[in-house]
Amino acid sequence: MDIISDITEMQNRCLAARAAGRKIAFVPTMGFLHEGHLSLLREGRKRGELLVLSIFVNPTQFGQGEDLDSYPRDLARDERLARDCAVDLLFYPAAAAIYPPDYATFVNVDGPLTATLEGACRPGHFRGVATVVAKLFVIVQPHVALFGCKDFQQLAVVQRMTADLNLPVEIVGMPIVRETDGLAMSSRNVYLSADERRQALSLARALAHGRQLAADGVRESGAVLTALQAMIEAQPAARIDYLRICHRATLQEQERIDADSVLLLAVFFGKPRLIDNGPLLDQAKPC
Ligand code: AMP
Repeated sequence: MDIISDITEMQNRCLAARAAGRKIAFVPTMGFLHEGHLSLLREGRKRGELLVLSIFVNPTQFGQGEDLDSYPRDLARDERLARDCAVDLLFYPAAAAIYPPDYATFVNVDGPLTATLEGACRPGHFRGVATVVAKLFVIVQPHVALFGCKDFQQLAVVQRMTADLNLPVEIVGMPIVRETDGLAMSSRNVYLSADERRQALSLARALAHGRQLAADGVRESGAVLTALQAMIEAQPAARIDYLRICHRATLQEQERIDADSVLLLAVFFGKPRLIDNGPLLDQAKPC
């Protein structure tokens, strides 16, 4: 595995691989790798001949007062895990190289997809995500890029951008990887105290209960949301940012539950903010 920080060197390596007919699979991350990231890498290993991992804590997707400075980092450990997944190239650029002082170009996915949920709670977040993913695609030149359904809206935004800009990249969504007790894996879980972590299990319980209510025939979103809100708010540290039932493709709220319904939530437990989601009726699609 080669570790490359230089953008031009990375692009040249990828352009050469493409010219040689090698299929490039790409997994963009912010590092502090866990099993969720590794599941993407393992799938990427199967799908591509050159497997590229990027680790870049992207400043433009963090808002004022968010956790950019404290975001967990451990490159030595990430390097070991990447080697174990047979990553070929680890791209590790500096923020000043991705965004030099005269940097002026941003990618904005407009419209209802970004106006809601994370986009409404974190203004500018998806502008930062779309910009860095577009830049990484131009640098890495992937044939296929893998993203987790953990960031459900991000995946939808990346798919929209890729289609709108006619980028020749296949976007693959991968299922959420959870701890054995149900907590969705996240680099940010290290922020949770033992007590907050215990309380955070209410999210997986709420998702399971929502699925159960839907399986029992409840179709009114309001009834399900009221029940789940009570479950989550029974935890003293919990503060709900949003809790919604939306159509999986449009992300618009649904009054009635159907096969396209996804439950999406963001909840603070003390300072840490966790997101999670899951389908209510149709478990067949990963996202
Ligand atoms: P991040 O490093 O948090 O930006 O995540 C990098 C990629 O890993 C994104 O596509 C995430 O959706 C994905 N990811 C993060 N957590 C999980 C998880 N628990 N299961 C599956 N994919 C995940």
